[in-house]
Order: sequence, then C-alpha cells, then structure tokens
Amino acid sequence: MKPTTRETRPRKWRKPTPCPICGCTRIGFQWIATAYNPILHTTRAIWRVQCRHRQGILIITRHNDLKEAIRAWNTRANKHKRKAKER
Ligand SMILES: [Zn+2]
Repeated sequence: MKPTTRETRPRKWRKPTPCPICGCTRIGFQWIATAYNPILHTTRAIWRVQCRHRQGILIITRHNDLKEAIRAWNTRANKHKRKAKER
C-alpha cells in the first residue's frame, strides 16, 4: 500500500468544487460586504456564490479573502454530496 503524499494530491482550493446540484463548474464568487461586530471586534465577509442554475447562496467567512470563500464553498459542496450519497 502506497502512502498518499500531499505532492500526489495537489490541493484544489484554487478551483471551486463543481456545484453539487447541477454539476456545473462555473461558480461565481461575488463579495458583497464586510460586517464588523463592535462587541466581539470581529469582521465577517459576506459572499454570494452563484452557479449557472442556482439563485445563489450566501457564504460568510472571517476574512475578506477569496481563497477562504472558495474553501468555504468547497466544504459546503462536499458535505452536500456526502448527504446525497447517504440517502
Ligand atoms: Zn449548479
């Protein structure tokens, strides 16, 4: 059994995971706003993630960073895929 190294499995955070609903790969990320919480002293970036067929969902990340938004989308899309398999 060969150990799976990170080199053989390149990270794909640069590319968003295809949409779990329709499978399209054209996922658009649009930054909407950054919300500041004066009590907790935290900021949250709000992103609109949209594929060709869906109306678009909102993703909230800690930083105003597109990479983080893509990662959040990927996590969400993978979870959705797993759920669909269980059914
Ligand atoms: Zn889609």
